[in-house]
Amino acid sequence: MVHVAILGGGVIGACCALAAQAEGFSVTLIEPEQPGGEQAASYGNGCWLSPQSVVPPSLPGLWRKVPKFLSDPLGPLAIRWSYLPRVAPWLIRYLLAGWTEAKVRRTAHALRPLLEGAPALHAELAAQAGVARLIERKGLLYIYPSRAEFEAEALAWRLRAETGMRWLEIGEDELRQREPDLDRRYRFGVLVEEGGHCRDPGAYVAALVALAERQGMRRMKARATGFRIEGGRLRAVRTDQGEVAAERAVIAAGARSAPLARAAGDRVPLESERGYHAVIEGAEVGPRTAMMPSDGKMAVTMTEAGLRCAGQVEIAGLEAAPNWKRAEILRDHLLRSFPGLPRDLDPARVKFWMGHRPSTPDGLPVIGPASGSGDVIHCFGHGHIGLVTAPRSAAIVGALLAGRPPAPDAAPYSARRFG
Ligand SMILES: Cc1cc2nc3c(=O)[nH]c(=O)nc-3n(C[C@H](O)[C@H](O)[C@H](O)COP(=O)(O)OP(=O)(O)OC[C@H]3O[C@@H](n4cnc5c(N)ncnc54)[C@H](O)[C@@H]3O)c2cc1C
Repeated sequence: MVHVAILGGGVIGACCALAAQAEGFSVTLIEPEQPGGEQAASYGNGCWLSPQSVVPPSLPGLWRKVPKFLSDPLGPLAIRWSYLPRVAPWLIRYLLAGWTEAKVRRTAHALRPLLEGAPALHAELAAQAGVARLIERKGLLYIYPSRAEFEAEALAWRLRAETGMRWLEIGEDELRQREPDLDRRYRFGVLVEEGGHCRDPGAYVAALVALAERQGMRRMKARATGFRIEGGRLRAVRTDQGEVAAERAVIAAGARSAPLARAAGDRVPLESERGYHAVIEGAEVGPRTAMMPSDGKMAVTMTEAGLRCAGQVEIAGLEAAPNWKRAEILRDHLLRSFPGLPRDLDPARVKFWMGHRPSTPDGLPVIGPASGSGDVIHCFGHGHIGLVTAPRSAAIVGALLAGRPPAPDAAPYSARRFG
C-alpha cells in the first residue's frame, strides 16, 4: 500500500488524512503536539462555517489605513513596528492583491468552490467521527447599528451575491425576537441561512484524528524538517526524530509550512496573521445564532466551553509574545454586546488565547504539487477560512494523491503563482 505522511495535525491535516485513507493510502500523521491542542489555529478560531467567506482581507483602498495599522497597536489590524522590515514584502503583495475590484472579484470566485456546501460536509464528517453535536447549522448573523452600515459594505455583499450566496435582511423587531440578549445598539441584521458553526473546533479536530487512527492511521510525535527526494521521487520525510519512509507527503503545518514548502522547491510568502480569542465560561446570556458585529469584525459564538469572541489581526511574526490587551478588547466587546453578562465578571471565568492564521498575501490557500517533487502536495495558507474550507481542500489533495484531476480545479491555488 502506498504510504502518505501528513505533516501537521490541525483541521487541514486531519481532513487530508481522512481523504488519503478514503483513496486507499496508508497514512502516518507527523505532528509535534496533541492534535486539537492550543498550539494550532484550528483550536482557537471563531468557529464559523461560513460558505459566504469569499471576500479576501485585502480590499481596494486598504493602503490608506496602513499608517493607522502602524500607529494603533490595539486596532483591529495592527503591525508591530519592529516587525515591519521583515513583513514589508508580504505587505506590499497583500495590498496589491486587493488593489482593484477586478482582482478581489477573481479571488472571490476562486474561493467559492472551497466554501460551497461546507457546513453540510462538516456535519457529515462530525457524524462519522461520532461528534455530530459539535456542528450546528443554524445560520450566521451579521449585525449592524443600522442599515446604512450594511450598505457601506456594498462591495463585500455584492461579491457574495455574485458568487451565489443568498441571505435574509432582518429588521429591528425581528432582531430583538431572534436575539433577546443582544445590546440594543444593533438594529439591523443579515442572516446567512446556509452558514453554521462548530461548538468546539479543538475537540472536533481531535475527533477527526481519532477517527483516522481507528481506521489505521499511525501517529508520530515529531516535527517535520524536510524531505529526502531522489530523482524527483520522495523517499522519506525528515523529522527531528529521524527519517520516516514515505512515497507521498502532504504539507499541512499551518503558519509553519513555509520552510517545508521551501524544502520541497517552492518559496511561498506565508505570514502569520495573529488572532486572539476570549471565552467567558458558563456565560449566562449570549447569541442564539453565531454572529459578527460590524463594529468589531469578530466572531461571537456560543461554544461548549462558553461564549467565545475571536478576531483581531496582529502582524508580529510567529515568535513575539502575545499582547493580551487585544484579548481584553474581545472580552470587553462581549460585555458591551450582552448587557446581561455580570458587570463584576470573575476573571477566573475568562480564558484568553492567541494563535496564528496561516496567511498568503492574496487570501487564497496553497494547494497542489510541489515544484521539487509531485509526490509532495501542499495544503496550507488558508488564512481566515481554514476551518470551513478544510473538507474541500482535503478532497483536492485526495484526488491529487490518487492521480485524478481534482474538482474543483487546483490551478488557482498553485504555489507557482508567486513566481
Ligand atoms: C482568531 C482566529 C479566528 C478564526 N476564525 C475562523 C473561523 O471562524 N472560521 C474559519 O474557517 N477559520 C477561522 N480561522 C482560521 C483557521 O483557524 C485556520 O485557517 C485553520 O485553523 C488553519 O488550519 P491548519 O490545519 O492549516 O493549521 P493549524 O490549525 O495551525 O495546524 C497546524 C499544525 O501543524 C503542526 N506543525 C507545525 N509545524 C510542524 C512541523 N514542522 N511538522 C509537523 N507538524 C507541524 C502544529 O503543531 C499544528 O498542530 C481563524 C483563525 C484565528 C486565529
